[in-house]
Amino acid sequence: MPLDPAIRPTALRKEGDDRLVIDWSDGVTMRYTWQQLRDHCPCAGCREERQKPPDPFRVLRPSELVPLRPVSITPMGYYAYKIGWSDGHDTGLFSLELLRELGEKMKG
Ligand SMILES: [Zn+2]
Repeated sequence: MPLDPAIRPTALRKEGDDRLVIDWSDGVTMRYTWQQLRDHCPCAGCREERQKPPDPFRVLRPSELVPLRPVSITPMGYYAYKIGWSDGHDTGLFSLELLRELGEKMKG
């Protein structure tokens, strides 16, 4: 479902070490964990990675042993944010639609 163009993030902030909180212009506040965002990275490389069957003998890369965190969140025009990660990955464009889908509405 296309997002109402009037709905935009009004504020982004970190919460603790592992979460992002976005306030939206319609009064909704949503919470995301970094892991959840990375697990849904929409770039071609990550989509391909997710479609492969799990390899039981796969060795974790060193970058996977430390918790991932974003080092930058850059607005791309009016429709998406580019998230750069501590392992150097920065090709994921998170559209506002995707962020609305992924967000967990905060209660209270
Ligand atoms: Zn990616």
